Amino acid sequence: MDLEPITLPGVDPKRPIMIAGPCSAESEEQVMQTARGLAAQGIKIFRAGIWKPRTKPGSFEGVGLAGLPWLKRVKAETGMYITTEVASRDQVGVALAAGVDMLWIGARTTVNPFAVQEIAGALRGINVPVLIKNPVNPELDLWVGAIERFHRAGLRRIGAIHRGFSSHEKKVFRNEPLWHLPIELRYEIPNLPVFCDPSHISGKREFVPLLSQQAMDLNFDGLMIETHHDPSSAMSDAKQQMTPDELEKLLKSLIVRDENRPGEKLSSLRNRIDHLDEQLLDLLAERMRISCEIGTYKKEHNMPVLQSTRYNEIVEERIRLGCTKALNSQFVREILLEIHEESVRQQMEVMTE
Ligand code: PEP
Ligand code: MN
Repeated sequence: MDLEPITLPGVDPKRPIMIAGPCSAESEEQVMQTARGLAAQGIKIFRAGIWKPRTKPGSFEGVGLAGLPWLKRVKAETGMYITTEVASRDQVGVALAAGVDMLWIGARTTVNPFAVQEIAGALRGINVPVLIKNPVNPELDLWVGAIERFHRAGLRRIGAIHRGFSSHEKKVFRNEPLWHLPIELRYEIPNLPVFCDPSHISGKREFVPLLSQQAMDLNFDGLMIETHHDPSSAMSDAKQQMTPDELEKLLKSLIVRDENRPGEKLSSLRNRIDHLDEQLLDLLAERMRISCEIGTYKKEHNMPVLQSTRYNEIVEERIRLGCTKALNSQFVREILLEIHEESVRQQMEVMTE
């Protein structure tokens, strides 16, 4: 994809390109206090949500148009660039008219091709940088599709933001990182700058430094980190925002390796492998869990564990499938035999319980 750098004059393109600011613009005072704190740390791009896509009506849905003059003031007084989320043609119009320098598309918008198309259409012929968050659901094609819609509308300063994926299981993080998806995105669109938003992945400020380091180790280009002068009073995402001072500490502690130096390329490839292995193990665990469920069913229905015709059928079919993916057939056979043996062992255990 022919893309141009998204960096803005005066912003150091060195990793990580930093975007920081509150989840939401709440008041002129809050916006200015946070912005001054960030400008003092050398942050050059200030974020604040004006229109907030909230899960439930009745919660704080952003200050709307009233917030744009506050952002303008940030720009005038601190010299920082300003960025906000847009979700419709009208919002694009007023944001650009107010001098917003960079736009981002929220995770709840990326899932909707109609909305993405409308926004892309509104931006036709305007070379403003646009960052596209991943969709809330873990679907790489939907993310790539949104990026393509902006590209087809003529935009070239496009980037992506990885903000994690919602999951029905409640795990440590608010959103599952599923690192393999942004990693695969980079392989699909190699020159696409990718930011990580550790605030929305973690949901808790304590985890933001750890996730930021992981993003750097995976060679992300930048970070978008929610920052508030008084996080505990924030009207949205209070638990995940940090103060400008905490952000400074985080940035000082980050270790940023240069992928182009000898050895760094290797460690980046190893990182990819590590994440894929983790996925393989998750899949194996899930497969064994289902095997045990089958074991329980067979026990209840008085059926034998081993049914050789079914087994031979699946091995042959899987080997054919493996060949279409350029895998060695002997290798596929051996892996399947091992997996099957373990499945049988687990089912036997269930039968004899
Ligand atoms: C945000 O950046 O505050 C936001 C609403 O993010 P997301 O679209 O990732 O949920
Ligand atoms: Mn937020």
